[in-house]
Amino acid sequence: MASEGLKVIIAGAGIGGLVLALMLEKASIDYIVLERASEFKPLGSSISLTAQVLRVFDQLGILEEVQAVSLPMSSLTYFKQDLTLMASWDATIATDRYGYTSLMFPRPDLMQVLLRQVPPHKIAWGKRVLSTMQNTNGVMVRCASGETFDGDILVGADGAYSAVRQSMYKNLEMKGIHVPPTDTAPLHFDQYCILGVTSDISEEYPVLKENDTQLNVVIADKKPYNVYCIPLKGGRVGWAICGKLLQEQFHDQENFRFSDYGAEAIEEIRDKIDDIPVPIGGSIGQLMDKTEDISRIMLEDRYAGRTVLIGDACHKLIPAGGQGAIQTILDCVCLANLLKELPSTEPADITAVFKRYYDIRAPHAKKAVAASSQLSNLMSSKGLLADMMRGFILKSPRWIINKSFDSIYGGRPILNYLEQIDLKGTVKDSSKPATLIDKPSKPSMSAAAL
Ligand SMILES: Cc1cc2nc3c(=O)[nH]c(=O)nc-3n(C[C@H](O)[C@H](O)[C@H](O)COP(=O)(O)OP(=O)(O)OC[C@H]3O[C@@H](n4cnc5c(N)ncnc54)[C@H](O)[C@@H]3O)c2cc1C
Repeated sequence: MASEGLKVIIAGAGIGGLVLALMLEKASIDYIVLERASEFKPLGSSISLTAQVLRVFDQLGILEEVQAVSLPMSSLTYFKQDLTLMASWDATIATDRYGYTSLMFPRPDLMQVLLRQVPPHKIAWGKRVLSTMQNTNGVMVRCASGETFDGDILVGADGAYSAVRQSMYKNLEMKGIHVPPTDTAPLHFDQYCILGVTSDISEEYPVLKENDTQLNVVIADKKPYNVYCIPLKGGRVGWAICGKLLQEQFHDQENFRFSDYGAEAIEEIRDKIDDIPVPIGGSIGQLMDKTEDISRIMLEDRYAGRTVLIGDACHKLIPAGGQGAIQTILDCVCLANLLKELPSTEPADITAVFKRYYDIRAPHAKKAVAASSQLSNLMSSKGLLADMMRGFILKSPRWIINKSFDSIYGGRPILNYLEQIDLKGTVKDSSKPATLIDKPSKPSMSAAAL
């Protein structure tokens, strides 16, 4: 198997880069992670993971560590601005149906768990990828530090503004290969999020001492944004303000672009957002006041599905949709399975692996991008029609909700090359095999599935 002599360069030590590194580590495939940041910074808000990826975490032996920094999710609840209940979906059914309870945790805590799994010498900090070059012998990455790194394969896990993706486009154009106009069109941002995690505030808000959590969404009255409030382990609260029209509050697009998940001054943001009440008590302004680092992001309403890109580098999902990290980890499972099967490092074999990866993952990623964008639009649109649509969807009968959840959460792929673990839950695994050969999926033995 050529995977033994393979050298993979991973650009970006975010969730995707670190998960892929861990999977390659377990596959005994050589790799190096190049990360732009000079050190780990605990930025971001809450992230949830569902059975879709908790099964592979179970197989990788990191489930318990992730559970230790998480709270189990009991419900997804929507409120009007006066905090009257609009609808509540029971999230505990995930345990019976898909075999794993959905978990909610601060992004920095998951990052710390992942960083403990990857040998420190395999992550090169302070290496901002500037450009890439490839030929029949391999790929070379040039960093802002002036250093270069050589490998057989480059995986762009460098997030929403991927330098690897931009470099790929440039190289393709130079070769006269047409890049779809949607991929090269000027950035068009229409989703904005401001987010953070408070310090331990459980003394002021006793509800935070409970052992489970809820994803609470407050649909703001006539405001171009909604408020998310999620109790987290350790008496903290993950919060976010997201909306399609937040650009009315923040129109400095250039700054937004460069402040992707960067730390922001609280005062500037605080002044521009209404003090909407939150279901744990108090208001969003009070949560902001208890938060040390606030991040803000803007997102495009399009995706770019390129074969050696994973995560946000090829499909940018709105944080509020809850699928960003999940779809990224699913990319990693698929790519790691295929790389382990790579017959040789010849360009034709590498292309075959990347093509297969694209064929398997693109439909799922496109579906997730469309669904999270639609959900976000629906939730942040204002007016009577939007209210009626929301009411119709949120109050759908349980069997309809289950059916649509099964199509999202039913796929629970694991790694082919590690010891197989049983499929838990009453719903069968709907994933397709991630192997080089197109095998029919066997739901009862769902090892190689996506
Ligand atoms: C600081 C931060 C906070 C976040 N907070 C949240 C949140 O609260 N909720 C949520 O749903 N999602 C959040 N996300 C996004 C979430 O992590 C991703 O949507 C998802 O996990 C996909 O992961 P990814 O690995 O593709 O991208 P990311 O997790 O965004 O990781 C990309 C990594 O690539 C690095 N990078 C970027 N450019 C270069 C370059 N040129 N060279 C080398 N490295 C580079 C970045 O520094 C980062 O470490 C956050 C991302 C970041 C970076």
